[in-house]
Amino acid sequence: MNPPIPFLAAPGYPATQQWIAALQEAMPGERIVMFSQLNDADKAACTLAIVANPSPADLKQLPELCWVHSVWAGVERLVADLKQTQAELKIVRLIDPQLAETMAEAVLAWTLYLHRDMPSYIRQQRQKRWQPLPAVRAQERTVGLLGMGVLGEAAAQRLHAANFKVRGWSRERKALANVECFAGAAELQSMLAATDILICLLPLTEHTTGLLNAQTLGWLPAGASLINFARGPIIDDAALSSALDSGHIGHAVLDVFAVEPLPQDQWQWTHPQVSVLPHCSAPTHHQTASAIVASNIQAFRSSGLIPASVDTQAGY
Ligand code: NAP
Repeated sequence: MNPPIPFLAAPGYPATQQWIAALQEAMPGERIVMFSQLNDADKAACTLAIVANPSPADLKQLPELCWVHSVWAGVERLVADLKQTQAELKIVRLIDPQLAETMAEAVLAWTLYLHRDMPSYIRQQRQKRWQPLPAVRAQERTVGLLGMGVLGEAAAQRLHAANFKVRGWSRERKALANVECFAGAAELQSMLAATDILICLLPLTEHTTGLLNAQTLGWLPAGASLINFARGPIIDDAALSSALDSGHIGHAVLDVFAVEPLPQDQWQWTHPQVSVLPHCSAPTHHQTASAIVASNIQAFRSSGLIPASVDTQAGY
């Protein structure tokens, strides 16, 4: 019989029981348990674990562990933690078509919010002002995506289907139908220069931290808007605040922040050109994610091969 598979999360993580129930249902032949339920023999035998921001000290107690499956798509914190303590451990992240669909829906929803100038109409209603604003057709609007991975590509196709002009930026150049593709630092300026609505779907790495700063925001056309669905520290908050105040950036939709939940005293809550979302653009669906985790674990059990893992050097 296989040793149990522990689920490890940060202390106080509220969804542990929901995850364990969904994972157990997806893997009736395995025993999925909380880390605290492992006895010493179990700990000595575990080769894999399922994780949601686990404590590195807990992982250290599993001497035979060779890989962990994250239930999240973004793994920057896990990569950073394990770099310090267990660099040899392989990390498999969640790649769930349902998550990509949910994110593509959020991208389209908030792009339309900006495209149809809803922030202005909300303001006008508060002032009891009846004033139609100039209408722009979707095909006249260019949406730029930073990050053309699993989520960026799905979002690009959804935006194209809604008639927007779409451009995307990645490290390696992509060849994608209906998307003007840009690659690498050298092409960022030209990618941004004709982008009306910029959407960030990059992983947080040493190269993307602070990537949207005074200089790069300045490369956007005056009045462009911004959606961040990736990670807070990709944006230099002080630079964004100035760009909004000067009107260079018309509006920002922010779903992610350097500190979450966003503290009460932060300027984003009350800035008239900011829409604050509580990190809700693409919540993981426990059942579909558990089915993906189960199929990766099944493949490992039958072949002994660890599924494709995160490039910890690149950080994503
Ligand atoms: P992914 O498949 O790994 O794609 C990442 C993309 O970013 C790739 O196209 C990659 O380029 C590009 N990239 C990385 N570093 C770059 C750099 N320095 N310069 C240019 N391009 C760079 O990741 P994903 O699954 O699409 O997820 C993206 C991020 O979304 C996650 O890391 C997570 O932070 C965030 N997320 C947010 C939520 C939410 O609810 N807000 C939910 C899920 C995920 P290459 O293709 O050339 O490698």
